[in-house]
Amino acid sequence: MDRVRTWQAMRFHARAGEKLKDVVLQGALRKARPLFVAKRRKGMDSLAEDGLEFEMLRSAAKNIKNRILSDLDVWLEIFEERAKARGAEVLWARDGAEAARLVVDIAQREGVTKATKSKSMLSEEADLNAALAAAGIRPVETDLGEYIVQLAGEKPSHIIAPAVHKTIGEVEALFAKEHGRPIETRTSADIPDLAREARAVLRQHFLSAEMGISGANFLIAETGSAALVTNEGNGRMVTTLPRVHVVITGIEKLVPTLEDFATLMRLLPRSATGQAISNYVSLLTGTKRDGDHDGPEKTIFILVDNGRAKLLGSPYEEMLRCIRCGACMNHCPVYFSLGGHAYGWVYPGPMGSVLTPLLTGLDNALDLPHATTGCNQCGSVCPVDIPLPDLMHRLREEQVVRRRRPWSERLALKAWGWLAARPALYRWLARRAARYLDWLADGQGRIRVFGLLPEWTAGRDLPVSSARTFHEQYSARKRA
Ligand code: SF4
Repeated sequence: MDRVRTWQAMRFHARAGEKLKDVVLQGALRKARPLFVAKRRKGMDSLAEDGLEFEMLRSAAKNIKNRILSDLDVWLEIFEERAKARGAEVLWARDGAEAARLVVDIAQREGVTKATKSKSMLSEEADLNAALAAAGIRPVETDLGEYIVQLAGEKPSHIIAPAVHKTIGEVEALFAKEHGRPIETRTSADIPDLAREARAVLRQHFLSAEMGISGANFLIAETGSAALVTNEGNGRMVTTLPRVHVVITGIEKLVPTLEDFATLMRLLPRSATGQAISNYVSLLTGTKRDGDHDGPEKTIFILVDNGRAKLLGSPYEEMLRCIRCGACMNHCPVYFSLGGHAYGWVYPGPMGSVLTPLLTGLDNALDLPHATTGCNQCGSVCPVDIPLPDLMHRLREEQVVRRRRPWSERLALKAWGWLAARPALYRWLARRAARYLDWLADGQGRIRVFGLLPEWTAGRDLPVSSARTFHEQYSARKRA
């Protein structure tokens, strides 16, 4: 939680202001967004080839996740029993700190000096890399995006594209410095070269690490397996080469059966990258058996709560359906104006605006439920039908009820309430305000600098729809 407090010290508004002025970041984001949106659309269109359609699948996926959540304790016990029957160990962690402690303990017991990692957002929640490094164990991120942000000493800015905020030039300079070679001038056409370079470096780590750490996209109760969905193959190296494999994941990742997993897999890659299926889909069950060529001698699941269990049965339970596809942030105008680091914790975008206050506490993320335009693009693309705008709205209501909004905002709302109860005065003032805004817009229909609320025009122009109020226009139409 210390990390959360540090981030909170610099609030979302302040970070957002910085990100809007960051020209390099803005360039990187401008390029990325259309790609994500177009790929998802293409992926969803391809459902028709299998005689399927999005709404039907989404409803099925929602039901699967709801079924798990209504009896999560029972399904977790089934998973534990099946995983143990295949030789795995199952440990439980109340929070991120406990999860990190368990991983460090295992590493020390097993004499581990280096651990390769496949992307795991839970390990970010647990600040696992810092805990491993403090214990003298070297963590090496092997997902290309995660590897880049680790070299840069940064945090991921997107849950499926951790380095989306970086330009090719920045990555080239970083690799030249870290890999000890002269810098060259590269273009996006040379990305395969950079990937090859990273692969050559990572191969040495794959071969020498004693422990592999991965997350899990899903846990399958009926088989006690972890399902890993990747595009780079690093997940397979991390989970099969080292002698110890630790899976660290949240308790809500369960699905009942392989068939349910197959249903969700029709939606996850399409929502994330537009692919009908990811390059590598691995089902990891138990440990290496006699006659197996590879696989870990020890497989240990660490199932982490970190604030999830208390959401069960609450008005926010629906958030636990999230399958971490990233579609909500890929379609969010706020996310693509600021990038993920503005959100201040592990999860950015609309899902982060809901999840961060729920997992870290309302007071640690007061601005986030307000980081929305209310356009509902996030809700409409979510493959498990999480009503993200409604949940943000509810969090905002809770802030008001618990008097967590600034006094100036509360005063303004009180004044608004007083005015709204006096229609004649309200209409008179609204007319004056509409004329004033129209005068400020100076015939252009856009206000470029608005002195009363400078934040409204800090990053864009404020459009002015009309010099006449809604009431005036309505009355005129009735008369006509
Ligand atoms: S909230 Fe929905 S769209 Fe966003 S990451 Fe989760 S599952 Fe994907």
